[in-house]
Amino acid sequence: MTKGSVRFESVTKRYGPVVALKPLTLEIESGTLCTLLGPSGCGKTTTLRLIAGLESASEGKILIGGEDVTHLSATYRRVSMVFQSYALFPHMTVADNVAYGLSVKRVPKGEAATRADAALEMVGLKGFGKRLPSELSGGQQQRVAVARAIVLEPEVLLLDEPLSNLDAKLRRHVREEIRQIQQRLGLTAVYVTHDQEEAMAVSDRIIVMNNAEIAQAGTPRDLYERPASAFIADFIGDANLLDVDVAQAGSETKVQLREHSFNLPRPTDLKGAAKLVLRPHQVRLSQAPSAMSLPAEVAYAAYLGNCIQYTLATAAGEIFAILPPSGQPFAKGDTVHVTWDPEDLRLVAA
Ligand code: ADP
Ligand code: MG
Repeated sequence: MTKGSVRFESVTKRYGPVVALKPLTLEIESGTLCTLLGPSGCGKTTTLRLIAGLESASEGKILIGGEDVTHLSATYRRVSMVFQSYALFPHMTVADNVAYGLSVKRVPKGEAATRADAALEMVGLKGFGKRLPSELSGGQQQRVAVARAIVLEPEVLLLDEPLSNLDAKLRRHVREEIRQIQQRLGLTAVYVTHDQEEAMAVSDRIIVMNNAEIAQAGTPRDLYERPASAFIADFIGDANLLDVDVAQAGSETKVQLREHSFNLPRPTDLKGAAKLVLRPHQVRLSQAPSAMSLPAEVAYAAYLGNCIQYTLATAAGEIFAILPPSGQPFAKGDTVHVTWDPEDLRLVAA
């Protein structure tokens, strides 16, 4: 087990009658950025606070770097947390804010100042040490919060919705900076967000949580291309979920969608009622019907510059489609024919 890895073995957390975490088993590899993603109230912050030692587990075992820290208090865990509110001291200079945690640990003043300067340089704020937090932009303040966490040389960096106080435009910029700092320093980081795009953009691995447990864990690509449930298919990227009936047909899968049937080129564990995952960008539209096509009426068409979005009314329900802007444009009321490449499609349980 290497430095900074995090392991939960059947960890639960209850607040009186509230079950904040059902038995949770997870493994976060050293040097990676792992995101806890899920809707509000699913247990993300609780999981982070358990790693930090700010909450104690009701049951189970927590290991950091292979060491059992289940009963170790927060002070002795080598982890630092970045909060969404930054929590900077407004009357202290940026350098003093960054050095604060070191002074608490009784690191000599001179050494603390040198380390604070180095941490500010790592987050691209060299020369900003003498300013007050109020003299920095929101994005810069968030970088100070990151500097204040990494100056303590934690084994694990914990970030709880670190971008939620930034406006949409800055968010993309700051998340890239956080990711680059984490990679440059080889830090193990656990990042919490409810925003799936943000999770996809920064993570080596994503643990999707729902109702106090793990719904699915994997790389961003695993989750998008091989969703294990309708919840994941819908939560990770847009998806049209169409009701189908499936049957095994040798090494292929026979899919019945209304009166249409076609084969997927792989076997399935599913049988009977299921959902077909059709991503908006996987939809093909043509004017003429073909053997496998589904007739549709264009209910809404929107030109967005980089794409055209369509809402299509079909006998199998509404289908949302995103097509390249260069293609043949269709207008509201047009009859079109929806097709797809069976290679692209996935099935999930109904
Ligand atoms: P998330 O960060 O995913 O939004 P949390 O981990 O904060 O979710 O909360 C998970 C569940 O635990 C929620 O139902 C929440 O209301 C409950 N919870 C969290 N902290 C406490 C607490 N201190 N006392 C009681 N219930 C809590
Ligand atoms: Mg939270």
